Amino acid sequence: MAQPLHIAHLYPDLLNLYADRGNIRTLRMRCLWRGIEVTVSEVPAGSRPDFARYHLVLLGGGSDREQAIVGETLAKWKGELRAAIEAGMPLLAICGGYQLLGSYYQLPDGTKVPGLDLLDLVTVAGSPRLIGNVAVESDLCGTIVGFENHGGRTTHNHEPLGKVVRGCGNNGKDGYEGVQYKHVIGTYIHGPLLPKNPRLADLVLARARAYQGVDHPLEPLDDTLEDAARKAFLTRRVQL
Ligand code: GLN
Repeated sequence: MAQPLHIAHLYPDLLNLYADRGNIRTLRMRCLWRGIEVTVSEVPAGSRPDFARYHLVLLGGGSDREQAIVGETLAKWKGELRAAIEAGMPLLAICGGYQLLGSYYQLPDGTKVPGLDLLDLVTVAGSPRLIGNVAVESDLCGTIVGFENHGGRTTHNHEPLGKVVRGCGNNGKDGYEGVQYKHVIGTYIHGPLLPKNPRLADLVLARARAYQGVDHPLEPLDDTLEDAARKAFLTRRVQL
């Protein structure tokens, strides 16, 4: 009997802006609907994550203040996180969590919030905030839809998650959104991200199962409702 798939939600008491917790619920339900045993560990503020036990990690978004607290905490164990990422552990980092993957996040007053130096990426706060509905074309899973609200402008030297079709993306200038590195996905897309993007949710789950060592494909699910939500979003929110 395969061990349960173990998902970790890092510091949801600090980083859970715009319902990013909904991503965990989506991943959990998409496992249960398939009869896949899954456990979710919520790692509270200040606690040490046990990356050796996780098959998938979520780091949500937050305000500048909470982001700085999490960055300081996680910096103590960034070596362990880096090793897990290099070993192929999937990490989904949303907005503030995404920004923390880089070298720093420079606040409006010029203060630099140190990042985890996991990716060749920097973020500088700008004005106005980049807020609104967003649609991105990704080679990974087609169109990704959602909502963005960030002051930070991110630039990096990795593969983007996709090209912006509507909205601002990483910095409102270069036409790209998010980042991909091994099985790390960073993105500004809230909403939460996964309920309206079932193909992305299943891609992340498939990677977690492969990392767990379970080598068989995910059974397809009936995504009629999810697809209807996407269609409504694309026609009413981003006019695509
Ligand atoms: N505090 C960061 C910013 O404003 C991230 C915001 C967020 O996580 N939504 O850019």
